[in-house]
Amino acid sequence: MINQKTYALGSKRSVIREIFEYAKKRGAEIGRENVFDFSIGNPSVPAPKEVNESIERIVATTSSVELHGYTSAQGDKGVRDTIATNLNVRFNTTLCGDDLYMTCGAAASLTITFHALAESGDEFITFAPFFPEYKVFCEGAGAKLKVVKSDDNLQPDFDLLEQSITENTKGLLINSPNNPSGVVYGEEVIKKLAEILEKKQKEFGKTIFFIADEPYRELVYDKDTVVPFIMNYYDNSIVCYSYSKSISMPGERIGYIAVNPKCKGAKEVYFSVCGAGRVLGYVCAPSLFQRVAAECDGLTADLSVYKNNRDLLYRGLTDCGFDCVYPDGAFYLFMKSPEADAYAFCEKAKKYELLLVPGDDFGCPGYVRIAYCVKPETISRALPSFAFLAREYGLN
Ligand code: PLP
Repeated sequence: MINQKTYALGSKRSVIREIFEYAKKRGAEIGRENVFDFSIGNPSVPAPKEVNESIERIVATTSSVELHGYTSAQGDKGVRDTIATNLNVRFNTTLCGDDLYMTCGAAASLTITFHALAESGDEFITFAPFFPEYKVFCEGAGAKLKVVKSDDNLQPDFDLLEQSITENTKGLLINSPNNPSGVVYGEEVIKKLAEILEKKQKEFGKTIFFIADEPYRELVYDKDTVVPFIMNYYDNSIVCYSYSKSISMPGERIGYIAVNPKCKGAKEVYFSVCGAGRVLGYVCAPSLFQRVAAECDGLTADLSVYKNNRDLLYRGLTDCGFDCVYPDGAFYLFMKSPEADAYAFCEKAKKYELLLVPGDDFGCPGYVRIAYCVKPETISRALPSFAFLAREYGLN
């Protein structure tokens, strides 16, 4: 009678959402300040003031018909030209507005890209840990998501990747800075990934796409942490970007897809992206926020807040004896569960009102994710509870 796959997806919440809802319920019972909700990646730092200024200016200076009307399906030309020019300045690329397609955030960038590329029997590879929605987006496009383990530092395992690529591989999807680990892939890693993909393209005589999901591109906290722009390393590449996290606008649903103009059949790939947008019924990205994105492109929310949170949390947890992956970016910390079953560990943490997400759905059992996009005082007040929890496991 109805689509059982979509029913299953819609009737069951993700683990993250489940914990987030529990946090709200628990907060109503004991007071929100007494619940340490580290479940969800909702930016806690306000959008830079330029965002509201830009909204006000655009509303005041654009005719209402134009402002609230449809834009071109791929996005307003002026907006795309501006963002392409900014990317060229930042990354020394040769993009033009017609290589960009404006989207409703990274989720739309990804679903459109999967739909644009996937043919029957295709597989896309990603590394664990990964954003769980990748599976939903990829399978929704009729392709298979193949998950490849990372090494002990949660960096790509090159040998495993090589072994995993087959004639069915349509693309490799990476996410750096990573949700949930906070790990960033450096230049040497990107070069090596590109080298493997080149080799496999030759071996199988086909195009293999390199796709970067980059909602956290600007969220890095140390001077020497650089997020390489994959188009500078591999021609058959596509970048899926979003302004959700960089300028704290997740509710406004705005981002873009950039198709590398050096990609084989770049124009066909771009038109397929446009067609996928039609299939999925996006029509066009929000008109006002396309313009805001163009005006605010390159700005960030106050990243010092996340950096201080990262430092406080990482130091606090390691001092308690927990084993944590050092997060170079994004706003997540990935911690080893002191017992093999991360669900059981999260249940114990709940006794201290610490709400953490088990790593299983991210493809990494035995870990938990801690989203530190919270108020700094949530972390400082939670640390004594983490210390009690660590003591239960004999860690300190
Ligand atoms: N990709 C990753 C890795 C994410 O963490 C998220 C959101 O948390 C998304 C994509 C979706 O982002 P958006 O809100 O821009 O659709």
